[in-house]
Amino acid sequence: MINLILFGPPGSGKGTQANMLVEKYGLTHISTGDLFRHEISNKTPLGLKAQEYMDQGILVPDEVTIGMLENRVDETNNQKGYILDGFPRTIAQSEALDAFFKSRNTSVTHLLALDVDDNEIVNRLLERGKTSGRPDDANEEVIRKRIVEYNAKTSQVYDYYAQKNISQSIDGVGSIDEIFQRLCNALDA
Ligand code: AMP
Repeated sequence: MINLILFGPPGSGKGTQANMLVEKYGLTHISTGDLFRHEISNKTPLGLKAQEYMDQGILVPDEVTIGMLENRVDETNNQKGYILDGFPRTIAQSEALDAFFKSRNTSVTHLLALDVDDNEIVNRLLERGKTSGRPDDANEEVIRKRIVEYNAKTSQVYDYYAQKNISQSIDGVGSIDEIFQRLCNALDA
């Protein structure tokens, strides 16, 4: 079983790479951002709550996010494993994830972090915002806030899993195929 945390700042290419990895390894892709956007489009209470935070570029509270992720894993129940994209984003989410996986007799097997610098990230997100329809990609102030949140709350997740010897940094600059190959090499090693 592979349980991969595909890690990295917003705009580092996690979604694109996750779609390719799903094909190759038969994993289930779970993006908490996509789950929230689905709830928002259905105007559910969870979606309305999440939107207040997402519009500002700040993290949705852990208690909302963790339950949603766990439900999704249980619903899909893929014995080959998962690609988690955009989760965990805090130490509390990491601890909750480990406890949850343990209760399901599994664990996080890899954390692969796509390494892309901040200026490149802002440019990529502004470019994506022209077509993604995501309000949080269209506004430079919100993009910068997301990067601040990432550096303040999320980057420590790398160190948390490094202590368990499963974190690895991957150069996230290059062609989509080059980056995919780097990720596959790390997973196949
Ligand atoms: P993403 O699609 O991963 O860029 O996420 C978009 C937004 O959804 C983030 O800026 C957060 O507001 C929210 N979000 C997604 N995943 C999480 C998470 N694991 N914890 C808290 N907020 C999240």
